[in-house]
Amino acid sequence: MELLWLLLPIAAASGWWAARRSTTDRNASAVRHADYFKGLNYLIDDQPDQAIEVFTRIADVDRDTAEIHLALGNLFRRRGEVDRAIHIHGSLIARTYLTADQRQRAMLELGEDYLRAGLFDRAEELFQKLLDQPDLMTLALSRLIHIFQQEKDWRQAIAYSDRLERISSESKRRQTAHFCCELAEEAKGHSQDDEVRTWLLEALARDPACTRANLLLGRLAMRAGDYPAAIAVFQAVERQDRGYLPEVIAPLGQCYSALGHLDAWITYLREVQERDHGGRITDALAEYLLRQEGEESALRFLERELREYPTLLGLRRLVEIKLARGQGAEYADLRALHCISTQMLNSAARYRCDNCGFVVKSLHWCCPGCLQWSTIKPMPDLVMKTSA
Ligand SMILES: [Zn+2]
Repeated sequence: MELLWLLLPIAAASGWWAARRSTTDRNASAVRHADYFKGLNYLIDDQPDQAIEVFTRIADVDRDTAEIHLALGNLFRRRGEVDRAIHIHGSLIARTYLTADQRQRAMLELGEDYLRAGLFDRAEELFQKLLDQPDLMTLALSRLIHIFQQEKDWRQAIAYSDRLERISSESKRRQTAHFCCELAEEAKGHSQDDEVRTWLLEALARDPACTRANLLLGRLAMRAGDYPAAIAVFQAVERQDRGYLPEVIAPLGQCYSALGHLDAWITYLREVQERDHGGRITDALAEYLLRQEGEESALRFLERELREYPTLLGLRRLVEIKLARGQGAEYADLRALHCISTQMLNSAARYRCDNCGFVVKSLHWCCPGCLQWSTIKPMPDLVMKTSA
Protein backbone atom coordinates (compact mmCIF):
# COMPACT_ATOMS: atom_id res chain seq x y z
CA MET A 1 0.00 0.00 0.00
CA GLU A 2 2.81 2.38 0.76
CA LEU A 3 3.75 2.39 -2.90
CA LEU A 4 0.33 3.50 -4.06
CA TRP A 5 1.21 7.14 -3.60
CA LEU A 6 3.84 6.63 -6.25
CA LEU A 7 1.16 5.97 -8.79
CA LEU A 8 -0.52 9.36 -8.98
CA PRO A 9 2.15 11.34 -10.84
CA ILE A 10 3.08 8.33 -12.92
CA ALA A 11 -0.56 7.80 -13.85
CA ALA A 12 -0.79 11.47 -14.81
CA ALA A 13 2.33 11.17 -16.94
CA SER A 14 0.93 8.01 -18.49
CA GLY A 15 -2.32 9.75 -19.43
CA TRP A 16 -0.38 12.49 -21.11
CA TRP A 17 1.75 9.89 -22.83
CA ALA A 18 -1.26 7.89 -24.03
CA ALA A 19 -3.03 11.02 -25.27
CA ARG A 20 -0.14 11.77 -27.56
CA ARG A 21 -0.50 8.50 -29.46
CA SER A 22 -1.69 8.93 -33.03
CA THR A 23 -4.24 6.61 -34.55
CA THR A 24 -1.56 5.01 -36.74
CA ASP A 25 0.37 3.43 -33.91
CA ARG A 26 -2.48 2.38 -31.64
CA ASN A 27 -1.39 -1.23 -31.67
CA ALA A 28 2.16 -0.41 -30.62
CA SER A 29 0.76 1.91 -28.01
CA ALA A 30 -1.44 -0.86 -26.63
CA VAL A 31 1.63 -3.09 -26.25
CA ARG A 32 3.50 -0.36 -24.40
CA HIS A 33 0.45 0.33 -22.28
CA ALA A 34 0.48 -3.33 -21.25
CA ASP A 35 4.13 -2.92 -20.30
CA TYR A 36 3.27 0.20 -18.36
CA PHE A 37 0.65 -1.60 -16.24
CA LYS A 38 3.05 -4.49 -15.79
CA GLY A 39 5.50 -1.98 -14.35
CA LEU A 40 2.83 -0.58 -12.05
CA ASN A 41 2.04 -4.08 -10.81
CA TYR A 42 5.72 -4.60 -9.96
CA LEU A 43 5.62 -1.39 -7.94
CA ILE A 44 2.49 -2.48 -6.08
CA ASP A 45 4.16 -5.83 -5.35
CA ASP A 46 7.13 -3.91 -3.95
CA GLN A 47 9.47 -5.06 -6.71
CA PRO A 48 10.88 -1.70 -7.81
CA ASP A 49 13.86 -3.21 -9.65
CA GLN A 50 11.58 -5.07 -12.04
CA ALA A 51 9.38 -1.97 -12.31
CA ILE A 52 12.35 0.19 -13.26
CA GLU A 53 13.43 -2.40 -15.83
CA VAL A 54 10.00 -2.30 -17.47
CA PHE A 55 9.82 1.50 -17.44
CA THR A 56 13.34 1.70 -18.81
CA ARG A 57 12.33 -0.66 -21.66
CA ILE A 58 9.36 1.58 -22.44
CA ALA A 59 11.70 4.57 -22.50
CA ASP A 60 14.01 2.73 -24.87
CA VAL A 61 11.29 2.61 -27.52
CA ASP A 62 9.34 5.75 -26.73
CA ARG A 63 10.90 9.14 -26.13
CA ASP A 64 7.75 10.54 -24.54
CA THR A 65 8.27 8.51 -21.37
CA ALA A 66 10.99 10.87 -20.17
CA GLU A 67 8.36 12.50 -17.98
CA ILE A 68 7.56 9.13 -16.40
CA HIS A 69 11.23 8.60 -15.60
CA LEU A 70 11.65 12.03 -14.10
CA ALA A 71 8.61 11.49 -11.86
CA LEU A 72 9.68 7.96 -10.94
CA GLY A 73 13.24 9.02 -10.07
CA ASN A 74 12.04 11.91 -7.91
CA LEU A 75 9.70 9.64 -6.03
CA PHE A 76 12.43 7.12 -5.33
CA ARG A 77 14.66 9.91 -4.01
CA ARG A 78 11.87 11.14 -1.74
CA ARG A 79 11.49 7.60 -0.45
CA GLY A 80 15.21 7.60 0.41
CA GLU A 81 16.09 5.11 -2.36
CA VAL A 82 18.77 7.35 -3.80
CA ASP A 83 20.63 4.63 -5.71
CA ARG A 84 17.52 3.92 -7.74
CA ALA A 85 16.91 7.63 -8.33
CA ILE A 86 20.50 8.01 -9.57
CA HIS A 87 20.07 5.02 -11.88
CA ILE A 88 16.85 6.39 -13.39
CA HIS A 89 18.00 9.99 -13.86
CA GLY A 90 21.47 8.90 -15.00
CA SER A 91 20.12 6.54 -17.66
CA LEU A 92 17.70 9.25 -18.78
CA ILE A 93 20.53 11.71 -19.44
CA ALA A 94 22.29 9.06 -21.53
CA ARG A 95 19.36 9.04 -23.99
CA THR A 96 19.95 10.99 -27.19
CA TYR A 97 16.35 11.93 -27.93
CA LEU A 98 15.73 14.26 -24.96
CA THR A 99 14.72 17.86 -25.56
CA ALA A 100 17.04 20.51 -24.12
CA ASP A 101 14.50 21.22 -21.37
CA GLN A 102 14.17 17.54 -20.44
CA ARG A 103 17.95 17.11 -20.34
CA GLN A 104 18.39 20.11 -18.03
CA ARG A 105 15.65 18.87 -15.72
CA ALA A 106 17.20 15.40 -15.64
CA MET A 107 20.60 16.95 -14.80
CA LEU A 108 18.99 19.01 -12.06
CA GLU A 109 17.30 15.94 -10.57
CA LEU A 110 20.48 13.87 -10.81
CA GLY A 111 22.30 16.67 -9.02
CA GLU A 112 19.69 16.50 -6.24
CA ASP A 113 20.19 12.72 -6.08
CA TYR A 114 23.96 13.13 -5.70
CA LEU A 115 23.42 15.76 -3.01
CA ARG A 116 21.15 13.40 -1.08
CA ALA A 117 23.73 10.63 -1.46
CA GLY A 118 26.51 12.92 -0.20
CA LEU A 119 28.37 12.70 -3.54
CA PHE A 120 29.20 16.40 -3.50
CA ASP A 121 31.87 16.43 -6.23
CA ARG A 122 29.50 14.86 -8.75
CA ALA A 123 26.65 17.15 -7.69
CA GLU A 124 28.92 20.19 -8.01
CA GLU A 125 29.93 19.21 -11.54
CA LEU A 126 26.28 19.01 -12.64
CA PHE A 127 25.17 22.24 -10.98
CA GLN A 128 28.17 24.09 -12.46
CA LYS A 129 26.98 23.01 -15.93
CA LEU A 130 23.49 24.36 -15.19
CA LEU A 131 24.78 27.84 -14.28
CA ASP A 132 24.64 28.75 -17.99
CA GLN A 133 20.86 28.26 -18.03
CA PRO A 134 19.13 31.54 -17.06
CA ASP A 135 16.03 29.75 -15.72
CA LEU A 136 18.06 27.45 -13.49
CA MET A 137 20.89 29.76 -12.44
CA THR A 138 19.34 30.81 -9.09
CA LEU A 139 18.60 27.22 -8.12
CA ALA A 140 22.02 25.97 -9.26
CA LEU A 141 23.78 28.73 -7.30
CA SER A 142 21.86 27.95 -4.10
CA ARG A 143 22.72 24.26 -4.46
CA LEU A 144 26.40 25.05 -5.08
CA ILE A 145 26.47 27.28 -1.98
CA HIS A 146 25.00 24.39 0.01
CA ILE A 147 27.72 22.07 -1.35
CA PHE A 148 30.54 24.52 -0.50
CA GLN A 149 29.16 24.83 3.03
CA GLN A 150 29.14 21.06 3.43
CA GLU A 151 32.72 20.92 2.13
CA LYS A 152 33.71 23.88 4.34
CA ASP A 153 35.00 25.71 1.26
CA TRP A 154 34.04 29.09 2.75
CA ARG A 155 35.77 31.25 0.14
CA GLN A 156 33.77 29.66 -2.65
CA ALA A 157 30.62 29.85 -0.51
CA ILE A 158 31.15 33.61 -0.15
CA ALA A 159 31.87 34.13 -3.87
CA TYR A 160 28.79 32.18 -4.98
CA SER A 161 26.57 33.83 -2.33
CA ASP A 162 27.65 37.26 -3.58
CA ARG A 163 26.86 36.13 -7.12
CA LEU A 164 23.42 34.89 -6.04
CA GLU A 165 22.74 38.14 -4.19
CA ARG A 166 23.49 40.09 -7.37
CA ILE A 167 20.84 38.25 -9.41
CA SER A 168 18.17 37.90 -6.73
CA SER A 169 16.49 40.28 -4.31
CA GLU A 170 17.37 38.10 -1.29
CA SER A 171 20.14 39.36 1.02
CA LYS A 172 22.87 36.84 1.79
CA ARG A 173 24.72 39.17 4.20
CA ARG A 174 23.92 37.24 7.37
CA GLN A 175 25.21 33.95 6.01
CA THR A 176 28.30 35.40 4.30
CA ALA A 177 29.21 37.12 7.59
CA HIS A 178 29.18 33.65 9.16
CA PHE A 179 31.34 32.29 6.32
CA CYS A 180 33.87 35.04 7.19
CA CYS A 181 33.66 33.96 10.84
CA GLU A 182 34.33 30.36 9.77
CA LEU A 183 37.49 31.57 7.97
CA ALA A 184 38.43 33.54 11.11
CA GLU A 185 38.03 30.36 13.20
CA GLU A 186 40.28 28.48 10.75
CA ALA A 187 42.93 31.22 10.98
CA LYS A 188 42.61 31.15 14.79
CA GLY A 189 43.48 27.48 14.67
CA HIS A 190 46.78 28.47 13.02
CA SER A 191 47.36 31.36 15.49
CA GLN A 192 47.22 33.92 12.66
CA ASP A 193 45.68 36.75 14.68
CA ASP A 194 45.95 39.41 11.96
CA GLU A 195 44.04 37.22 9.54
CA VAL A 196 41.49 36.41 12.25
CA ARG A 197 40.88 40.12 12.80
CA THR A 198 40.63 40.83 9.05
CA TRP A 199 37.95 38.17 8.55
CA LEU A 200 35.99 39.31 11.61
CA LEU A 201 35.98 42.94 10.45
CA GLU A 202 34.85 41.73 7.02
CA ALA A 203 32.04 39.80 8.77
CA LEU A 204 30.90 42.97 10.57
CA ALA A 205 31.12 44.98 7.35
CA ARG A 206 28.77 42.46 5.75
CA ASP A 207 26.45 42.19 8.75
CA PRO A 208 26.87 44.74 11.58
CA ALA A 209 24.53 42.57 13.71
CA CYS A 210 26.87 39.57 13.55
CA THR A 211 27.20 38.74 17.26
CA ARG A 212 29.50 35.83 16.47
CA ALA A 213 32.10 38.27 15.06
CA ASN A 214 31.94 40.34 18.26
CA LEU A 215 32.27 37.27 20.48
CA LEU A 216 35.35 36.17 18.52
CA LEU A 217 36.82 39.72 18.52
CA GLY A 218 36.35 39.83 22.30
CA ARG A 219 38.18 36.52 22.75
CA LEU A 220 40.96 37.77 20.46
CA ALA A 221 41.37 40.94 22.54
CA MET A 222 41.38 38.90 25.77
CA ARG A 223 44.15 36.69 24.38
CA ALA A 224 46.17 39.82 23.60
CA GLY A 225 45.54 41.13 27.14
CA ASP A 226 43.53 44.10 25.81
CA TYR A 227 40.67 43.79 28.31
CA PRO A 228 39.11 47.27 27.76
CA ALA A 229 38.75 46.46 24.03
CA ALA A 230 37.30 43.04 24.90
CA ILE A 231 34.76 44.64 27.26
CA ALA A 232 33.67 47.09 24.55
CA VAL A 233 32.97 44.40 21.93
CA PHE A 234 31.34 42.01 24.41
CA GLN A 235 29.02 44.74 25.68
CA ALA A 236 28.05 45.60 22.10
CA VAL A 237 26.57 42.09 21.72
CA GLU A 238 23.49 43.14 23.72
CA ARG A 239 22.83 45.95 21.23
CA GLN A 240 23.35 43.59 18.27
CA ASP A 241 21.00 40.89 19.55
CA ARG A 242 19.86 40.69 23.18
CA GLY A 243 19.21 36.98 22.79
CA TYR A 244 22.99 36.36 22.93
CA LEU A 245 23.57 38.39 26.12
CA PRO A 246 24.00 35.26 28.33
CA GLU A 247 27.00 34.29 26.16
CA VAL A 248 29.04 37.36 27.18
CA ILE A 249 28.41 37.36 30.94
CA ALA A 250 31.20 34.90 31.83
CA PRO A 251 33.94 36.43 29.62
CA LEU A 252 32.95 39.95 30.72
CA GLY A 253 33.38 38.86 34.35
CA GLN A 254 36.86 37.55 33.50
CA CYS A 255 37.79 40.86 31.81
CA TYR A 256 36.61 43.03 34.72
CA SER A 257 38.39 40.71 37.19
CA ALA A 258 41.63 40.89 35.19
CA LEU A 259 41.46 44.68 35.31
CA GLY A 260 40.47 44.65 39.00
CA HIS A 261 37.43 46.78 38.13
CA LEU A 262 34.90 44.93 40.24
CA ASP A 263 32.85 48.04 41.02
CA ALA A 264 32.38 48.67 37.31
CA TRP A 265 31.43 45.01 36.89
CA ILE A 266 28.72 45.13 39.54
CA THR A 267 27.40 48.41 38.13
CA TYR A 268 27.19 46.84 34.69
CA LEU A 269 25.49 43.69 36.02
CA ARG A 270 22.90 45.71 37.93
CA GLU A 271 22.17 47.78 34.80
CA VAL A 272 21.76 44.66 32.73
CA GLN A 273 19.56 43.06 35.38
CA GLU A 274 17.13 45.96 35.01
CA ARG A 275 16.54 44.71 31.48
CA ASP A 276 17.10 40.96 31.80
CA HIS A 277 16.62 38.64 34.78
CA GLY A 278 18.36 35.65 33.16
CA GLY A 279 19.88 32.96 35.38
CA ARG A 280 23.46 33.68 34.31
CA ILE A 281 23.20 37.36 35.29
CA THR A 282 21.69 36.45 38.68
CA ASP A 283 24.41 33.84 39.17
CA ALA A 284 27.16 36.34 38.30
CA LEU A 285 25.74 38.90 40.74
CA ALA A 286 25.50 36.27 43.51
CA GLU A 287 29.11 35.23 42.88
CA TYR A 288 30.24 38.85 43.14
CA LEU A 289 28.31 39.44 46.39
CA LEU A 290 29.72 36.22 47.84
CA ARG A 291 33.29 37.30 47.13
CA GLN A 292 32.92 40.96 48.09
CA GLU A 293 30.33 41.01 50.86
CA GLY A 294 30.10 37.46 52.16
CA GLU A 295 27.58 34.64 52.13
CA GLU A 296 24.78 36.39 54.05
CA SER A 297 24.61 39.16 51.47
CA ALA A 298 24.69 36.65 48.58
CA LEU A 299 21.98 34.50 50.18
CA ARG A 300 19.69 37.48 50.87
CA PHE A 301 20.07 38.55 47.23
CA LEU A 302 19.38 35.06 45.86
CA GLU A 303 16.35 34.45 48.08
CA ARG A 304 14.86 37.77 47.02
CA GLU A 305 15.68 37.21 43.35
CA LEU A 306 14.53 33.58 43.17
CA ARG A 307 11.19 34.43 44.74
CA GLU A 308 10.46 36.68 41.77
CA TYR A 309 12.50 35.01 38.98
CA PRO A 310 13.06 31.36 39.89
CA THR A 311 15.87 29.84 37.82
CA LEU A 312 17.56 26.48 38.26
CA LEU A 313 21.00 28.09 38.02
CA GLY A 314 20.11 30.52 40.84
CA LEU A 315 18.70 27.70 42.97
CA ARG A 316 21.89 25.67 42.59
CA ARG A 317 24.01 28.66 43.59
CA LEU A 318 21.84 29.18 46.69
CA VAL A 319 22.21 25.51 47.68
CA GLU A 320 25.97 25.68 47.04
CA ILE A 321 26.42 28.65 49.39
CA LYS A 322 24.39 26.96 52.14
CA LEU A 323 26.35 23.71 51.70
CA ALA A 324 29.62 25.59 52.20
CA ARG A 325 28.56 26.10 55.83
CA GLY A 326 29.10 22.45 56.78
CA GLN A 327 29.17 18.80 55.80
CA GLY A 328 27.14 17.21 58.60
CA ALA A 329 24.19 14.82 58.31
CA GLU A 330 21.79 17.77 58.56
CA TYR A 331 23.00 18.87 55.09
CA ALA A 332 22.09 15.57 53.38
CA ASP A 333 18.93 17.01 51.81
CA LEU A 334 20.84 19.99 50.46
CA ARG A 335 23.51 17.70 49.03
CA ALA A 336 20.82 15.69 47.23
CA LEU A 337 19.22 18.89 45.93
CA HIS A 338 22.60 20.12 44.66
CA CYS A 339 23.23 16.81 42.91
CA ILE A 340 19.80 16.81 41.24
CA SER A 341 20.00 20.45 40.10
CA THR A 342 23.50 19.84 38.67
CA GLN A 343 22.30 16.77 36.77
CA MET A 344 19.33 18.71 35.41
CA LEU A 345 21.56 21.58 34.29
CA ASN A 346 24.06 19.23 32.65
CA SER A 347 21.44 17.23 30.78
CA ALA A 348 19.18 20.11 29.76
CA ALA A 349 19.18 21.57 26.27
CA ARG A 350 20.37 25.14 26.66
CA TYR A 351 19.89 26.45 23.14
CA ARG A 352 16.89 26.50 20.83
CA CYS A 353 16.38 27.48 17.18
CA ASP A 354 13.95 30.39 16.78
CA ASN A 355 13.15 29.16 13.28
CA CYS A 356 12.44 25.44 13.67
CA GLY A 357 12.50 24.78 17.43
CA PHE A 358 15.57 22.47 17.27
CA VAL A 359 17.10 22.19 20.76
CA VAL A 360 20.78 21.49 21.50
CA LYS A 361 23.16 21.54 24.47
CA SER A 362 25.79 23.77 22.89
CA LEU A 363 25.68 26.83 20.66
CA HIS A 364 25.58 26.06 16.92
CA TRP A 365 25.74 29.03 14.58
CA CYS A 366 24.11 27.04 11.76
CA CYS A 367 21.01 25.14 12.87
CA PRO A 368 21.39 21.38 12.15
CA GLY A 369 17.60 21.20 11.77
CA CYS A 370 16.78 23.96 9.29
CA LEU A 371 20.31 25.02 8.17
CA GLN A 372 19.58 28.68 8.97
CA TRP A 373 22.32 30.89 10.43
CA SER A 374 22.08 32.78 13.76
CA THR A 375 18.71 31.25 14.65
CA ILE A 376 19.93 29.12 17.58
CA LYS A 377 20.01 31.19 20.76
CA PRO A 378 20.46 30.59 24.48
CA MET A 379 17.27 29.52 26.22
CA PRO A 380 16.29 31.65 29.22
CA ASP A 381 18.30 29.60 31.72
CA LEU A 382 15.58 27.15 32.71
CA VAL A 383 13.37 29.80 34.24
CA MET A 384 10.78 27.98 36.32
CA LYS A 385 8.02 30.39 35.51
CA THR A 386 5.05 30.75 37.79
CA SER A 387 1.65 30.61 36.10
CA ALA A 388 0.51 33.87 34.58
ZN1 LIG B 1 16.45 25.54 12.98
